[in-house]
Amino acid sequence: MRRRGEETGREGASERLPRRSVFLNLFLSMVVFGVLIGLIFPPFAEIVLDVDEALSAYFFAMCVAAGAIVGLFNFLLFRLVVSRAIDRVAGAMRGMLASMESAERMDDGASLKLPISTRDAIGRIERSFNEMADAVARRVNLEWSTRSLLSLLSTSVELPDVAGRILRGLVDASGAMAGLIYCDTGEGFDRVADTGVDITEHVPERLSARLGPVTGAMQSGQITALTPGEGGLQWIRHSTPLGRFQPGSIVLVPLTAKGQAAGIAILACDARTLTAGQRQLLEAMRTQVAPHLQNAVLHGKIRDLAAIDDLTRILNRRFGVRRLNEEFSRSVRHGVPVSAVMFDIDHFKQFNDAQGHDAGDAVLKHVSRLTEKHVRVGDVACRYGGEEFLIIEPGVGMAESARVAERLRSVIQTSPVTWEEKALEVTASFGVATWPLVPASSAEELISAADKALYQAKESGRNRVCVHRGDTIVAGAGVAAEGA
Ligand code: GH3
Ligand code: MG
Ligand code: MG
Repeated sequence: MRRRGEETGREGASERLPRRSVFLNLFLSMVVFGVLIGLIFPPFAEIVLDVDEALSAYFFAMCVAAGAIVGLFNFLLFRLVVSRAIDRVAGAMRGMLASMESAERMDDGASLKLPISTRDAIGRIERSFNEMADAVARRVNLEWSTRSLLSLLSTSVELPDVAGRILRGLVDASGAMAGLIYCDTGEGFDRVADTGVDITEHVPERLSARLGPVTGAMQSGQITALTPGEGGLQWIRHSTPLGRFQPGSIVLVPLTAKGQAAGIAILACDARTLTAGQRQLLEAMRTQVAPHLQNAVLHGKIRDLAAIDDLTRILNRRFGVRRLNEEFSRSVRHGVPVSAVMFDIDHFKQFNDAQGHDAGDAVLKHVSRLTEKHVRVGDVACRYGGEEFLIIEPGVGMAESARVAERLRSVIQTSPVTWEEKALEVTASFGVATWPLVPASSAEELISAADKALYQAKESGRNRVCVHRGDTIVAGAGVAAEGA
């Protein structure tokens, strides 16, 4: 808390204190009033009370002195009683100022509030002060909450992080039990964050345009409170260890940036209505956080663009190797296998030479589409080089990986490319390496083992799969059959 001296110094620096003093005025008035009474009393005593000596200089002096003393006492009493009450309010104001300047979150103003001591003007000042403390606490907390959320948001550009933090901020601000954020990803409003919501198949991954109130809230940019059954949102359930509960109300908070809905938060609240403070806080937050959501989406798109090969529209080598590094570390950590499959189109140069470079490009695109279609969910395919591809298969053992490679080889062989009304037959050779059967100590070593197996496939006649078994390289067809 600020000390008196600091306060005076601070005021002195900004404005000069006036010379007038209410208490000095009061003191002088009281004494003058006492003297006046002292002067009036002797003639009064002479006429009304018929006191001899009343007009003597001695009696006059006594009366004036008595009047002055009464005036002085009056002043001292007043100062003792009133000045204390005013000092208490002034002290509380200094406390409020210190709290405002501390850049900390305030409680609801309770610690600053004064007990109402009287029913007169002092009591009215105290009551007004308390109302002001409430309003100040609301303002300071609003600013504190938005500032801390924004500084947290500035530490990440990844969509799941940003959306998760925004959701936690909004849930805190509204006192909600649970919530979801749907964000404009360019293809629709997709679910990007959830907390406390029971995620079942009823909770859509992408918002449907049929959810009228949601669309309405986004278009109007208004915070909208609904009853749980309203607006097709009855699927929102709060999930707790004790079971699933229907919320008291659902609050739609459009996250608007530059007049456009970047997303929408759907909050499940216990209470039926928001308080004025909660609504004010949500209102302040929603427009400030929305640009962060947009940036995160944009960041993801740029990263995808940087990760995708222009010609084939599948992931490029840089991204593929990074993914393999991640998957390799994860597999080693958890002790589960990971397979790398390298394949290379056979005699690809001949397509270029005989049909032209565009025909070669068409073959590359065609093989990329087939690869994308035939890898399993969770596997990652990338273009490793000119006509060379890499498939990363987390959690997949050698036999299964050999089977996937064999299947893709067969699909490529039996799916010719149509080029200028000609069917171009394409084949590819495959090399498979699986950790921990191949005792690689890094992703690069695993790729190198798969490459050796691929080389063997080329050497032994092309259009086949070879598998690195750690010590030997064998034909993939046999390995695939082993595990079947
Ligand atoms: P092998 O069966 O031994 O793999 O023979 P290959 O002809 O497939 O291999 P080689 O390495 O001799 O030739 C690869 C060719 O691929 C050489 C290169 O010009 C061509 N190439 C690389 N990138 C592209 C591309 O993006 N488009 C086209 N059309 N050709 C490419
Ligand atoms: Mg080739
Ligand atoms: Mg090659």
